[in-house]
Amino acid sequence: RTLSSGVAVSTPIRKQYLEIKRQVPDALLLFRLGDFYELFDDDAEVASRILDIALTSRDLGKGQRVPMAGIPAHAAEPYIAKLVAAGYRVALCDQIGTPDGRNLVERRITRILTRGTITEPAMLDARRNTYIAAVLLESSRAGLAYADLSTGEFAATEWVAEQLEELRAAVERELLRIAPAELVLPAGRRGVIGVEGAAVTELEERAWREHEARRVLHEHFGVETLASFGLADRPAALRAAGALLGYLLDTQVGQLPQLDDLVVYQTDSFMTLDAVTRRNLELLESARGERAHSLVSVLDRTETPMGARLLRRWLSQPLLDVGAIRQRQERVAALVEETLVRARLGILLAGVADLERLANRVLTGHVTPRELRQLGHSLARLPEIAEIAGRRPELAPLSALPDLLPAARLIESAIVEDPPPSLGQGHVIRAGFAPELDELRERARSAREWIASLEQRERERTGIRSLKVGYNKVFGYYIEVSHANRHLVPPDYQRKQTLVGAERYVTPELREFESMVLQAEERIAALEEEVYRRVVKELASCAAQIRRAAQLVAELDVYRALAEVAVDRRYVRPVVDESTVLEIRGGRHPVVETTLEAGRFVSNDARLDTESDQIVILTGPNMAGKSTFLRQVALIVLLAQVGSFVPAEFARIGLVDRIFTRIGAQDDIAAGQSTFMVEMVETASILRQATLRSLVVLDEVGRGTSTYDGLAIARAVVEYLHNHPRLGCRTLFATHYHELTELERVLPRVRNYRMDVLEEGDRVVFLHRVVRGGADKSYGIHVAQLAGLPHAVVRRAREILQELESARSGEHTRRRQSMAKEVPLTIQLTLFSPPHPVLERLRSLELDGMTPLEALTTLYELQRLA
Ligand code: ADP
Repeated sequence: RTLSSGVAVSTPIRKQYLEIKRQVPDALLLFRLGDFYELFDDDAEVASRILDIALTSRDLGKGQRVPMAGIPAHAAEPYIAKLVAAGYRVALCDQIGTPDGRNLVERRITRILTRGTITEPAMLDARRNTYIAAVLLESSRAGLAYADLSTGEFAATEWVAEQLEELRAAVERELLRIAPAELVLPAGRRGVIGVEGAAVTELEERAWREHEARRVLHEHFGVETLASFGLADRPAALRAAGALLGYLLDTQVGQLPQLDDLVVYQTDSFMTLDAVTRRNLELLESARGERAHSLVSVLDRTETPMGARLLRRWLSQPLLDVGAIRQRQERVAALVEETLVRARLGILLAGVADLERLANRVLTGHVTPRELRQLGHSLARLPEIAEIAGRRPELAPLSALPDLLPAARLIESAIVEDPPPSLGQGHVIRAGFAPELDELRERARSAREWIASLEQRERERTGIRSLKVGYNKVFGYYIEVSHANRHLVPPDYQRKQTLVGAERYVTPELREFESMVLQAEERIAALEEEVYRRVVKELASCAAQIRRAAQLVAELDVYRALAEVAVDRRYVRPVVDESTVLEIRGGRHPVVETTLEAGRFVSNDARLDTESDQIVILTGPNMAGKSTFLRQVALIVLLAQVGSFVPAEFARIGLVDRIFTRIGAQDDIAAGQSTFMVEMVETASILRQATLRSLVVLDEVGRGTSTYDGLAIARAVVEYLHNHPRLGCRTLFATHYHELTELERVLPRVRNYRMDVLEEGDRVVFLHRVVRGGADKSYGIHVAQLAGLPHAVVRRAREILQELESARSGEHTRRRQSMAKEVPLTIQLTLFSPPHPVLERLRSLELDGMTPLEALTTLYELQRLA
């Protein structure tokens, strides 16, 4: 933005500002001027609007002014957080060196903060990761890399597929799991792929070239390590990782010591959970987007932030390897058995701070004195944690914590017990740690003491009883004598300042001591900082060990949490094997049961088996508990493969490669799709992608359209799942179409179940019990009554229902005959009744060739026919 008059007025500082601003045209530049960060021009206007701070202007001389807004540098964090949260990139430009009052002080960009790259603890949610992800989607290959700068996690993966759509779906699934705060894409690809709530950053094409990506990775990791990453045959993963790393290096101005490893992984080593299923099962958030009433809210008994983050990761990545699952189970089991170990571990872990993030704060040098104390306390607890965990052989591998006592001792001896929040006041380093510092402090102390005793001495020497020694910022120390006593002042007093009723003096001696105090204080502050940096640097050399310890502690914490829940909520260890059986006895919904009074949740059995009981058709009135039952089975499978115990009396879970759900009729209005369309798209993707090992959970498929269409589609879907050679997978199908129960007679692996209800006259009591057999009628009217519809409406509805039912009974018999026939695989939309003459007429109309009048006439005709 040029100045309004167009006259190029430029003070040196304005020149410096514009030069730096040119480096970050797309960021808000926070320009350090003394005690403030100032923003200018358009940036100032944006900041003043978002932060609600005053917009002023700065004089450039010759009557030129530019808009300016400022925030205090020592309390900038909350302001920066707000700007970043509003989606802006914020560049911090700091002063390098101290101003000498003559030359322009050098300034440089020291950080660029964006949604995905903040590491300030106050701006982060401790219990979840803040990820930044980069995605490269090409015609037959896709690469994804993601990182959390606060924990040092850095990972990449790649997919190869014939079809772009397939690739996109895979990428989107993974992005949904990661839920990045910021998404980095090649320039111009915004909108091609996205994830809700993430800020999008576009990077020029060059950053994504293989050559460039390789160079960035090489430079950061060194050649030898790169070879071992497993990126050789994964060019898309390599390019995504390189582009992301390059971007991160830019924002951290080249300082990225915490990213010291890159994990290359494959999504097919975890259970696949698509967006819909994650949402339906309410794993990390409830349908309302809150943490309450989600699965994680029940399971999260972790004590440490890194444990909490690991638990979230585990819940969103259930395993597919029986061995690995059993190993986790054994560890949970060990802690279930050892009540004392569990309790003691809980107490110890509660005192462990966020080691993962602290290690990185040490590495980047941002760590504050208080954080160092926390780190020290936490490290001091590790030996006992290791000792306790080591008592059980199952946990022994986790008890091999690196020896960090020397680091703990270093902190203990270097940093005072209760340090101030930041350096600079000179009260951070403990006495006895640095002799030079102690000496300086001693000197300052004795000089201050001399001054403190001066008042008494001078009163005695001069005989002036009201003589005072004081201090002010402008003049420093002084001796104050009232005018009345002026004649008693000794000759060595030098007048400094005259007040209304008194005179202030100094003596050469006082000056000397004063400068001793000031110099000492200045040097103390400088030396403290130096000593502090030395301590931090020494600690940085064991940052990798601290991180390793953090990982082990996080795992222990998760196992302990799972054990705690298992004991508290009476979960059992499920049998997990390679079969395709699913057997649950006395299963409960892990979340719903916590919302009811103890013992009020009715447990239920479930049995599925690809060989015999492949498809369960569950009928019953609304509100009887069908959805709860369906979700409960899916959640028990998921928990089992996470390695957790499950809410049941017994469970045997043959490995599930993927859970598909289609639950309820949610309108995706934002995407402009109707309920029915959404439902069909989801159902289609299930039928296309499921395998023999999948678990398919369908709730009320076909509900979004007219009864016959819906019923027809529902039936065809069940047949397809039953008969298609690729499928034959375990399926739970809840429906209010009691007509579907006919299928049990035609399809050998279909089993009917229903929600048991008790009818007392007109009233229906839900027992929430799943029993064998199909419901023979629907109970919509009973539910309407329960919901409190006026009595007259309910009575009238009952009359109408009776009329309808008697009118339909003839048709019903016809339909039964049609159902009994073996129906071919393809979806037939007109299964149950011959089309009505009006319909036939409607279909044959050539609408495009009709005039409005002809159309109206035809409508009249049709009405007569109907
Ligand atoms: P449907 O899917 O049949 O309409 P839901 O599964 O939504 O019914 O259940 C309705 C309500 O019934 C739930 O919110 C829950 O409070 C209660 N409920 C469901 N299953 C049980 C159960 N097994 N034991 C106790 N209460 C249950």
